Amino acid sequence: MAKMIVGGELVEAENHEVMEVRNPATGELVDTAPRGTVGDVRRAVEAAEEGFRIWSQIPLARRGEILYEGASQILARETELARTLTLEQGKPLRESVLEIRRFVHTLEHYAGLAKNFRGGYVPQLDKNRYGMILKLPLGICGAIAPWNFPVSLMGNKIAPALLAGNSVIVKPASTTPLTSIRCVQIFNEAGLPPGTLNIVTGPGGVVGEEMLCNSKIRKISFTGETRTGKHVMEMAARDIKRVTLELGGSDPMIVCDDADLEAAVSAAAVGRFFNCGQACLAIKRLYLFDSIADGFIERLVNKARKLKVGNGIEDGTLIGPLHTAAQRQEIEEMIQDALGRGAQLLVGGRRPEGAAYDKGYFYLPTLLGNVDRNARIVREECFGPALPIFRVKDLEEAIAMANDSIYGLGSSVWTRNLDKAMKAAERLEAGYTWINSPQIIYDELPFGGVKQSGLGKEHGSEALDFYTETKSVVVTTG
Ligand code: NAD
Repeated sequence: MAKMIVGGELVEAENHEVMEVRNPATGELVDTAPRGTVGDVRRAVEAAEEGFRIWSQIPLARRGEILYEGASQILARETELARTLTLEQGKPLRESVLEIRRFVHTLEHYAGLAKNFRGGYVPQLDKNRYGMILKLPLGICGAIAPWNFPVSLMGNKIAPALLAGNSVIVKPASTTPLTSIRCVQIFNEAGLPPGTLNIVTGPGGVVGEEMLCNSKIRKISFTGETRTGKHVMEMAARDIKRVTLELGGSDPMIVCDDADLEAAVSAAAVGRFFNCGQACLAIKRLYLFDSIADGFIERLVNKARKLKVGNGIEDGTLIGPLHTAAQRQEIEEMIQDALGRGAQLLVGGRRPEGAAYDKGYFYLPTLLGNVDRNARIVREECFGPALPIFRVKDLEEAIAMANDSIYGLGSSVWTRNLDKAMKAAERLEAGYTWINSPQIIYDELPFGGVKQSGLGKEHGSEALDFYTETKSVVVTTG
């Protein structure tokens, strides 16, 4: 049985209840984790108060060293961690390894920023009067993570929060607590003072809700659905808690007639089907210039047919199962809705057949043409391996259709024409635009959505602004 980590100790829930964690590929029990309570969150808050008192006084350079040490300990256990991640989440093992490395890279990135993290100084505000701009930690920060990238998304929060001198309480998704618990444990062993980094597992409506209500928690960094994010923001308003919200997306990809089609087809396949389509930044709508559409679709259909669907723990699997039965049902309903409105099924559109697939939540990579613009798969976030494809006459039309969404997370455009590329980069309503590039995230660049995709930034030195208060100090001498 996995345990939570509070004040540096492995603990059970106060009522000793547990939640089952099951493998989405087989339905088998992987392990159990504590079903935390309101009391458990309060216990973690007490521990985090003590952790903050000590950690915030540790010199910045030393904090950076401990982040480095945590990163190297995690990397040393990459194989064990990746295996647990695949068992609880379902993604192919090679994607789990990539996710653990992403986490390590994020920790190293913020460890490196310890050398550059500073406020400001204003000389001679007046005669003998000087100004200083301090960047002070907030106190206790809550990090609420979803199940699709449980480890790397936790890393986006804890790395800048810890470097800035805060203590943290992590709440992972109920279905993916195991790898996160293990990472927090390894990190605690790497030299964090007790109470600096805690993890409380349990239902969002209990553990998460108490984190939103508890006024000793000064900031919530939340990644999850837009609907839950709105609730987080409402609750945070009660005591003006700081919030960072990383929410849903429906990323458009535009392919112009002068694009490198081979590279664009690969980017579309990886962008849509990575993690079985369960990525906030997945390509969820594809806009093709009319003149290249037929050839592009043919190549993409061929690629989609060849992607091996299976248990993520087995060699050669490229697409694992969807994470839950509910998740698969939702995708099936969205596809049915699109087909009911006249969409053309190009490939997929069903569960794979055979005994190997009976107990898991598998679904074949699916491409749809001739999709109604008001179909659910276009208007809502499609969190699975299905892609609606549209034909457009020019860039104007593509950008207008791409922007016709409540979401604004990522976007991409493929063209060899610099004017078109720059126009798209400026006009696509999104926090990120990739030009002739797959949707790769870099720790060096700030990341965060516009419109209903979120608020605030993660990654980059910008993320540190969201884990600090800026304070001005005036000093008179003489
Ligand atoms: P979700 O909103 O259901 O849950 C996210 C987390 O919030 C979980 O830990 C959950 O237990 C918790 N939670 C649920 N109810 C809560 C409440 N009342 N109070 C506090 N916490 C509560 O999201 P999910 O289904 O786990 O994740 C998928 C969603 O996350 C998708 O919409 C996806 O696009 C989004 N996402 C966004 C990003 C990004 O960076 N923008 C990254 C990954 C995923």
